[in-house]
Amino acid sequence: MRYCPNCSQPLTTKHEGGRERLACPDQGCGFIHFGNFSIGCAGVVLREGKALLVQRGWQPFAGSWQIPGGYVEHDEPILEAVEREVMEEAGVTARARDVIAFRHSIGGSIGGPSTNLYVVFRLDYVEGEPVFDNDEVVGAGFYSLDEMSQMEAVQGLSRWAIEKAMRAERQDGLTMENGAASVPARPGWQLFGLQPSDALLR
Ligand SMILES: [Zn+2]
Repeated sequence: MRYCPNCSQPLTTKHEGGRERLACPDQGCGFIHFGNFSIGCAGVVLREGKALLVQRGWQPFAGSWQIPGGYVEHDEPILEAVEREVMEEAGVTARARDVIAFRHSIGGSIGGPSTNLYVVFRLDYVEGEPVFDNDEVVGAGFYSLDEMSQMEAVQGLSRWAIEKAMRAERQDGLTMENGAASVPARPGWQLFGLQPSDALLR
């Protein structure tokens, strides 16, 4: 990156937040390049002791089975993103219940270093039998852990998340709140937290 994406001036460097960063010299613009960040989401959709898997049609890892998921758009609430990905990839309507895990990764790419947060939700099945487009997704279905053991190329991270979701059945992860007394609801915010244990008796 050499030019300001806001006003096209050549970038200079500025000491900000403890290190030198590319920054726009225009005081009125104020752009600072903090790096390349992305957010992914994925969902473990449970139905009668089985979890939803989709089979990738595209590289990388074409043919492998994984939980549905994808990138969260920059203007999209994460809870809606995970429900959208489940619908787009498998035609299944599911309702996000809680956050069961996340992965933070730092990687390199052609565009330079980038960092990604991949948030895994547990979802309750609502309706719809798995369907797929035979292009991006070439298979979809609900499978038990035993059945997955007989399948080739179930992604390790997906299997890890499914085991977490199934084995912590009576335990809630982070659930979305409509704001708390000390944190009123705000537009554009989704707040996730652990719930007091008496809330589990529902
Ligand atoms: Zn600028």
